[in-house]
Amino acid sequence: MSFPTSPSSAPDVASVDLAARRIAYFSMEIALSSALPTYSGGLGMLAGDTLRSAADTAAPMVAVSLVHRRGYFRQNLDAAGNQTESDQPWSPETMFPSAQQVVRIAMQGREVSVCAWRFDVMGAAGHVIPVFLLDTDVEGNNSYDRHLTDYLYGGDTYYRLCQETVLGLGGVALLRALGVEPEVYHMNEGHAALLGVGLLEERLAGSPLEQATEEDVAAIAKCCVFTTHTPVPAGHDQFGVDQMYAVLGQERGNVIERFGCLHNGLLNMTYLALRFSRYVNGVSMQHGKVSQQMFPDYHVHSITNGVHAATWLSRPLQALLDAEIPAWRHDNNYFRSIYGIPPAKIANCHELGKQRLFEEVARRSGQQFNPKMLTLGFARRVATYKRASLLLHDPKRLARLAKKIGGLQILFAGKAHPADIAGKGLIRDVFESAASLQASGIRILYLENYDWELAALLTQGVDVWVNTPRRPYEASGTSGMKAALNGVPSLSVLDGWWIEGCAEDLTGWAIDDAEDEEGEASSLYDKLENKIAPLYARPNAWARMQQHCIGINGTFFNTHRMLGQYFLNAYFPQMSEEEAIPIAVDLYAKERRSGGRRAADKEASKALV
Ligand SMILES: *Cc1c(COP(=O)(O)O)cnc(C)c1O
Repeated sequence: MSFPTSPSSAPDVASVDLAARRIAYFSMEIALSSALPTYSGGLGMLAGDTLRSAADTAAPMVAVSLVHRRGYFRQNLDAAGNQTESDQPWSPETMFPSAQQVVRIAMQGREVSVCAWRFDVMGAAGHVIPVFLLDTDVEGNNSYDRHLTDYLYGGDTYYRLCQETVLGLGGVALLRALGVEPEVYHMNEGHAALLGVGLLEERLAGSPLEQATEEDVAAIAKCCVFTTHTPVPAGHDQFGVDQMYAVLGQERGNVIERFGCLHNGLLNMTYLALRFSRYVNGVSMQHGKVSQQMFPDYHVHSITNGVHAATWLSRPLQALLDAEIPAWRHDNNYFRSIYGIPPAKIANCHELGKQRLFEEVARRSGQQFNPKMLTLGFARRVATYKRASLLLHDPKRLARLAKKIGGLQILFAGKAHPADIAGKGLIRDVFESAASLQASGIRILYLENYDWELAALLTQGVDVWVNTPRRPYEASGTSGMKAALNGVPSLSVLDGWWIEGCAEDLTGWAIDDAEDEEGEASSLYDKLENKIAPLYARPNAWARMQQHCIGINGTFFNTHRMLGQYFLNAYFPQMSEEEAIPIAVDLYAKERRSGGRRAADKEASKALV
């Protein structure tokens, strides 16, 4: 894997023209590097991949998040599958030159100082997206406040609301102090919604918030774009009104109430974000529709997620593509040219990915997996709706099936949130099934600590990627996209991205809808037995399928395409198509010619006016 990111050690780091940055991207978590524990899962990975594509395509963007000094947890599993957690502390002091710029925000009835560390995401041609990681561990803050930016999704609701206040209000204040004046603010999930209140305060320029009018809110909304990420109502952050007043103060609380941002008597971050945005979208076509039903008073659009190709493609596939279609690095549309590459070469690359995965499996577990045997992968955050156990629903049938098709190997991985007792039970269930199926020749292993590196190894190395969410709870899902890019087909419930990505027998297979889990499991086994295993036994046909996965799905489900859609539909919708589409490609060419990222930044501003 190659990570196109690096800490801000580049010599010309100071030369990034912050004043020309036109879009500010706010996210509670961002996966910046495999070495930094600043993300928990899909949301942070999407944010990181978005910024990596923004860097590759010279987009005039900056980003804001929190530093999360104690990181997201490391998962430890004992022999029975009991999960325990440990912190993953890291110190920005050892990675960055120095913290920049202290701003002060009023919250909890006092002032809290916030500083920021700058991480530069570097694109394929050297364009930089600066990411400001807010940090309250600043001298002068009291000891509670100094720890506000320690734990991603940690603490109680009060702690979380404080974090969201630091992100939203602190982020706006910081950008202004640095001379960044974006025209577009992108809230990645409701966690960032308080930036709207920050902008409103700024607009009133010291006058009391109670003077804010409907026009003021409309003026803020004109600059804001909101992406919602979950169709599960419980997944939307909400806080008690008492907490709202305690953290944000009377004035802000009143204005939030007055402009209708409470929902069922609670401060609901999704409703706040909706109120302060002019463009709202879900993360797949179906998720957009489901969200539209949830929020009938707003127009909800859809922009389907993607993944950053250079981050997720295996090394051997990158080398093959660099030799055959090098332009893929700045423009993922060229993946379509995969049809000019013999399928056997793609299959070879995948074999190497499988070898590498099995070496890691052996290193971790001492178990030797068979590289010739059909291998399934299932890895995701452990949540009941994701149903890790559907694959193991009928162990007897699975055992018979494995025997008939010449053996089966399954790799699982995934973390349960530390407070999710039911989720932890699901991990133990998989361990139990694995032990009982061992005798029937099915090898099942649950790998510890699902993270960036393990996700890459798995999606590059297994033969089939399995996903079994309960509909319609999967907003998008992105791990299957990583697999597709690597020529790995999916076997999945038709939910989230897979409704758009599934071309039956070409890019994978759909698990058919059924009345109950019994029926769905049965469809899953039918496809394995009657379609997947027979195809796997025909290497040439399998290799053609791998080619389709890249040609059909890799070409589309990437963040280069996704970001292009954000530009066209969300950020600068007044642009005509002719102006918008060539931006990325064009800027890249100019940047190359001029050799300067400063020049490219200026061009970017002009092109986007
Ligand atoms: C890609 C990724 C995810 C998100 O994948 P889903 O398909 O949404 O489950 C979560 N965690 C890690 C570590 C990832 O790399």
